[in-house]
Amino acid sequence: RMFEGLSEKLSGIFDALTRRGSLSEEDVNVALREVRRALLEADVALDVVRSFVDKVRSRAVGANVIKSVTPGQMVVKIVNDVLIETLGAEAEPINLDAAPPVAIMVIGLQGAGKTTTTAKIAKRLSERMKRKVLMASLDVKRPAAQEQLAVLGRQIGVETLPVIAGQTPVQIAVRAEQAARLQGFDVVLLDTAGRTHIDEALMQEMAEIKAASKPHEILLVADSLTGQDAVNLAKSFDGRVGITGIVLTRVDGDGRGGAALSMRAVTGKPIKLLGAGEKMDALEDFHPSRIANRILGMGDIVSLVEKAAESIDAEKAQRIADRMRKGKFDLEDLSEQLAQVEKIGGLGGIMGMLPGMAKIKDQLAAANLDDRIIKRQRAIISSMTRQERRNPDILKASRKKRIASGSGVKVEDVNKLLKQHRQMADMMKSLGGAKRGGGALGKMASMFGM
Ligand code: GDP
Repeated sequence: RMFEGLSEKLSGIFDALTRRGSLSEEDVNVALREVRRALLEADVALDVVRSFVDKVRSRAVGANVIKSVTPGQMVVKIVNDVLIETLGAEAEPINLDAAPPVAIMVIGLQGAGKTTTTAKIAKRLSERMKRKVLMASLDVKRPAAQEQLAVLGRQIGVETLPVIAGQTPVQIAVRAEQAARLQGFDVVLLDTAGRTHIDEALMQEMAEIKAASKPHEILLVADSLTGQDAVNLAKSFDGRVGITGIVLTRVDGDGRGGAALSMRAVTGKPIKLLGAGEKMDALEDFHPSRIANRILGMGDIVSLVEKAAESIDAEKAQRIADRMRKGKFDLEDLSEQLAQVEKIGGLGGIMGMLPGMAKIKDQLAAANLDDRIIKRQRAIISSMTRQERRNPDILKASRKKRIASGSGVKVEDVNKLLKQHRQMADMMKSLGGAKRGGGALGKMASMFGM
């Protein structure tokens, strides 16, 4: 199983850590040294290991302590986040966003799994995504190669370009494109020839095919078992031909996973798919967060910390609510409140749910408090000094001018914001003063999650 070794080691390190009530800096350092060793043993590139450990360390030092989780659980969450970032943050599926026929070129060394992967992708695109797919083998070196693709094509019910003996790879590519266009195919997959190692002739051939077929995707197929060689290979191919993504094959046999972990950070190119077996269905999407969960195996702790972090926002909100009640509602409070509002998807929905809030809602509508404006207002506030935010009364003409140009708005907009803040502060104060926690403000506060 992929990442088996790494996963076992990391869970060993963190199981112990999460149970401790407190952590010293030394505890964290010891754990990070073990993490470092585990990553190196998994054949992760040295630079990637270094930056990984540095990131975790600096975030662990700067992290807000959240009540209700242990420091070790915090560290697990941080490691999880850094893992996801290292893997590329978001999943990047095959991109078909172009006028059909969309050409996808599949390249790589001999035996990496190009032909198998081409057929797997064809099957997925035709079955799951209902695309009309044509496959073409551009491998004229190995006589059996074109037949191999044709056999797979019949097996999965995907058409292959008829073979014409004596054609060059570029000629086949051009013919494939024409056939696809004339016969209304959505996607044409070009399976290219490989070599046992990278050489100039191979690179030259790939560049020529690329020039002739203008592929929308150029996928490098690389063998996960070759570890850092796969990463270096991707770098070379990308430098010479330019690739749009990587398919790592044989992850079913890779207990280490170093190539998967280093690929994105070293090459800057996303892993799009994983080949996990010889069967035509053994193709997986590459989801950084799911892979991180597979590696760390601590999904429960991660979601626990996420929930706890949400309630930190609630604590912050409570603090604002308290300040509002006391009639202290400065621009810092407003900014934080706007941030919260933004996060829960704008004011309209929440305010609409409160019958007693109709009047305030109108007032806010009059003040034009929509999401775009919330963004602009936050920009204005962030262009102020801390002193100005705490004490808006000092904002005279020259300061306003500076703030306006700092946030790219007109002085008029700054004035509007200040006026609105004034109104809100007054409104909060009167509501709060009258009903002390209960009533309208209390209701509103609780709707804000305060
Ligand atoms: P090509 O020379 O790059 O086209 O490689 P092939 O597609 O012919 O694959 C070479 C061998 O690797 C074949 O026996 C495939 O069945 C096998 N293979 C390809 N992908 C995978 C994979 O993800 N896992 C495993 N276990 N075997 C694979």
